[in-house]
Amino acid sequence: MTMPGLATEPLPRTASVVVVGGGIAGIAAAYELARRGVRDVVVCEAGYPGVGASGRNGELVRSAFASREWATLFDLSLRAWQTLSDELGANTLFTRAGYIVLATGDAQVELCRRSVERHRELGIMPTTGVDEADIRRLLPALAPGYARGGFYQRDGGYAHHDATMWAYVQAAARLGVRIHAGVTVRGISVSAAGAVTGVETSAGDIATPVVLDAAGGRAREVAALAGVPLPTETQRLEAIVTESVAPFLRPGVALLDALGYCHQTSRGEFVGGTEVPGAPMPDTMATSFRGLVDAARKFTEAFPVLRGVRVIRQWAGIVDITPDFAPILGRAPGVDGLWLDCGWGYGFMAGPGAGKVMAEAIATGVVPPAMAPFAVERFARGEPIAEGSIVVA
Ligand SMILES: Cc1cc2nc3c(=O)[nH]c(=O)nc-3n(C[C@H](O)[C@H](O)[C@H](O)COP(=O)(O)OP(=O)(O)OC[C@H]3O[C@@H](n4cnc5c(N)ncnc54)[C@H](O)[C@@H]3O)c2cc1C
Repeated sequence: MTMPGLATEPLPRTASVVVVGGGIAGIAAAYELARRGVRDVVVCEAGYPGVGASGRNGELVRSAFASREWATLFDLSLRAWQTLSDELGANTLFTRAGYIVLATGDAQVELCRRSVERHRELGIMPTTGVDEADIRRLLPALAPGYARGGFYQRDGGYAHHDATMWAYVQAAARLGVRIHAGVTVRGISVSAAGAVTGVETSAGDIATPVVLDAAGGRAREVAALAGVPLPTETQRLEAIVTESVAPFLRPGVALLDALGYCHQTSRGEFVGGTEVPGAPMPDTMATSFRGLVDAARKFTEAFPVLRGVRVIRQWAGIVDITPDFAPILGRAPGVDGLWLDCGWGYGFMAGPGAGKVMAEAIATGVVPPAMAPFAVERFARGEPIAEGSIVVA
């Protein structure tokens, strides 16, 4: 396929860094490496940039999470989103429409209250607690009595996932990153001393001392090419979009108890996804009738104005999910030169900040404090990251 920013010349035989995967994790890291002056960065993407979850997500953006670790990391991104279009020289369609997390049950209402205190302590982009009157004001179309509390982050919102990917691809290419579409990494060579020496691809071999595994739903398979086991599972997430309707919803919304997230685009379409607790999440991009019914039921309950509105498309994407739902960022244990940037369930909103910390770590060898808690070794140590404000089944 052709797309502005994609390399048209043959795959190089050497590189300083090979990034496996042209989703937002891989392309943002490659872009940030080039910004730091790292030359000869090559991205190998099996399909085309954005073909994975980065082009199939619900597009929501926030940094207001309950845990110190998530809020700190994601705030780097939320700050970057505010000016990303200017920086990349193309419109990501980031809409600073606000983001509201809604809670119904006592436990979730209390979690939201404590989260706002933590956000203040951490100094992330401001959040405020919301009560039923605030919710009526911010979400007039929400069913009366649907939610009892939550929090609101004014600087959150949503961006267009394709526009964002295209913006990153072209900005990275302008800085010299070579992004090769249609190139699958099939092997990672490791020396007897345990250091990366190169990759084998469907278009030939590349000698390199550094490989970044940003292969999304296939990250576990890519790490395994170097003999590194990852505790991730490939899972399917589904979303729907409706026909355009008159504006009724301004902020992005997370329905904590219903496990849903949604927003209304500037063209009037309602976009959202829900999770079904305990439902199988197969490794496939086929959509399910169960997912469609669950989304229709939960969203019409929350927003009665949606009753009778037609769903025009349903789609799915695959992500790799870790046991604590937090990403894996850091060195791969036991293999020098192999870095991990995967396990992303909320990786679209996190892309800009994750790219920065990952590039800093690779370029300097020093892992920034915001990234350090996400090392894969946390699972072996029995220290998962507890994050309560995510909508995962
Ligand atoms: C329905 C749905 C809704 C979501 N909603 C949101 C949301 O609202 N907000 C949010 O922040 N996140 C959301 N997400 C999650 C988000 O989309 C992902 O966390 C994020 O896109 C992951 O980015 P990535 O770059 O790690 O992976 P991907 O975008 O999946 O990219 C990985 C790339 O690696 C390539 N690849 C794999 N194996 C190889 C190989 N061997 N060689 C070369 N290339 C390879 C793939 O082709 C793919 O393009 C959602 C996801 C889905 C599916």
